[in-house]
Amino acid sequence: KFEESKVLQQLPKQFFASLVKKVNAKVATGADVINLGQGNPDQPTPDFIIKAMQEQTAIPANHKYSQFRGDPALKQAAANFYQREYGVTLDPDTEIAILGGSKIGLVELPFAILNPGDTMLLPDPGYPDYLSGVALAQVKLELMKLREADDFLPDYDSIDPQVVRDAKLMYLNYPNNPTGAVATSDFYQKTVAFAKTNHIGVVQDFAYGAIGFDGKKPVSFLQTPGAKDVGIEMDTFSKSYNMAGWRIGFAAGNADMIEAINLIQDHLFVSVFPAIQKAAITALNSDQQSVHDLVALYEKRRNQFFKAARAIGWEPYQSGGSFYAWMPVPKGYTSESFADLLLDKAAVAVAPGNGFGKGGEGFVRVGLLIDEPRFTEACQRIAKLNLF
Ligand code: PLP
Repeated sequence: KFEESKVLQQLPKQFFASLVKKVNAKVATGADVINLGQGNPDQPTPDFIIKAMQEQTAIPANHKYSQFRGDPALKQAAANFYQREYGVTLDPDTEIAILGGSKIGLVELPFAILNPGDTMLLPDPGYPDYLSGVALAQVKLELMKLREADDFLPDYDSIDPQVVRDAKLMYLNYPNNPTGAVATSDFYQKTVAFAKTNHIGVVQDFAYGAIGFDGKKPVSFLQTPGAKDVGIEMDTFSKSYNMAGWRIGFAAGNADMIEAINLIQDHLFVSVFPAIQKAAITALNSDQQSVHDLVALYEKRRNQFFKAARAIGWEPYQSGGSFYAWMPVPKGYTSESFADLLLDKAAVAVAPGNGFGKGGEGFVRVGLLIDEPRFTEACQRIAKLNLF
């Protein structure tokens, strides 16, 4: 019998696993559950990407060990993509790292560039998997509170000066999971100045980078002058191309951080299945029409859901991107008791905000990953509980 190592024991409990368990238990009772709790994109991978992959799987060379550090043609395509979409110039050799999904990069980066006991800053609320990196690297965690009044952007001036002095690395995530907030160029300029003054590395998680609403394309952190001196952006094919199961993403920006990620990858991994890397090139080189169509669908759903929620007196935070709605909890409830009530009495599953950290208390996250008329039905069921 083997016991889990001390580090493994410190890894945070996967909060979505307990949510799925609750939802499954409710489904098992025969209830018609409307699941707004999960974050798994519902739309198919575009056909032209699947076709590219299928063609590539027929090529024997693609079944051998692939090149360490990824296909140079994919790195070139990623650099071209940044140039075209954001006007950002990147050296494909030294400023791009291919990842088996962005999560792996986000989790291994603290291990790659920090030492045990170093201080790292994470947003609160925030994507829970960042905590795995904290535990694996045995670093000290400090939280940056995100407040609705600040549009869920951290206020650097309010961070304890000692924490600022100690911090070596910070994570940002815009468009944001769970709130749907988007960042401005101004905020990124402040971030670069704060990072330079205090010698803090920046990782901006751009998982929802393509998904911006109201005609506003989310800005890339790397568009900020000096961004490459202080940090990187993490990109994924999971959301913009619905390739979540394929496990492919990339990191772009600061060459030292990219080299550190590559070194870890050399030791733990070879690279992503070459046929998938080739299909990823096809995705990046495409005219992005599939992405525009997807964003239009998410925007339509957001508007439909907001309309249905407002009709029952449930006022959402006005999100600007991602595919989540961040909804306040009525008086007298916690995030968890409210989510439990909705599942129990209305058969509507939502993610309790405290699953994203203490800063998420008072909210629930609604995933806009099903079609109408289910949103309206969810809101009608909730209306019957007379909470608003
Ligand atoms: N970052 C955020 C904020 C996410 O919400 C997710 C997935 O849900 C990821 C990263 C992970 O994406 P990937 O599939 O590239 O590992």
